[in-house]
Amino acid sequence: MTLATLADVLQPALKNQYAVAGLVTLGWEDMRAYVAAAEMVGCPVILQAGPSCRAHTPLPILGKMFRHLADGASVPVVAHLDHGYTYDECREALDSGFTSLMYDGSRAELAQNIDETARIVEMAHAAGISCEGEIGFVGYSGGENSAGTDPAEATEFARQTGVDAMAISVGNVHLQQDKEGGLDTDRIAAIQAVTQVPLVIHGGSGVPVAQRTALATGTSICKFNIGTELRMAFGDALRTAVNADASRFDRVTILKETHDPLVAATARVLSAFGHPAKG
Ligand SMILES: [Zn+2]
Repeated sequence: MTLATLADVLQPALKNQYAVAGLVTLGWEDMRAYVAAAEMVGCPVILQAGPSCRAHTPLPILGKMFRHLADGASVPVVAHLDHGYTYDECREALDSGFTSLMYDGSRAELAQNIDETARIVEMAHAAGISCEGEIGFVGYSGGENSAGTDPAEATEFARQTGVDAMAISVGNVHLQQDKEGGLDTDRIAAIQAVTQVPLVIHGGSGVPVAQRTALATGTSICKFNIGTELRMAFGDALRTAVNADASRFDRVTILKETHDPLVAATARVLSAFGHPAKG
């Protein structure tokens, strides 16, 4: 039984200078591979159910899947709601056994974002679980533009909401398939100078691996969300398996062949976040 809250895994990361991966799940195959990779590396892992995951599988089912995997894991596993947009959605995740809620009020004005996030934090903490908030807006590749996090607003947000982790916008962009520009380290330094709250980078797939390691071990960034990079690895493995034999039609047989490649790709991702080596 290694079910953990977000605070359980991020506070040691903050103290000991490493980061924990928030891995975007879409189904049983990837979440199972992510936990196997975390056990192989010997680090904690955050399983995340985002909007597209929830559109595919109901939250109460996802909560059971995450908790089942956590129960059997040798490393801490967090059951995390990614980008909850309403109080009711966060409430449903809590009732479904999630141990961490992310409320995304980042499209709203500061005062409204603070009020709404504080309400979710209060609900989460009353139930003994964690809450992540977002200040500044992290845009989407080919979609909405980002609005960078203002350090003064981040201070107010952290102080008034009581969040356990704070997602910031510092040059990161969701859904990037290439590791291009890198993040604004001056802005990160300005934000971490004014708050003790562990910082979170959404859109981690677009951050060059060397910079992930440098930030994980040298700043208060304690969580990197990784989705696209591992979705691409899964897609490649699935395509290879499907094309391997045109006569096969049983999907369990086909999907089985995605497991090892996805575990290997995930282990590479997890190994770059500065967690002390196993053994
Ligand atoms: Zn995100």
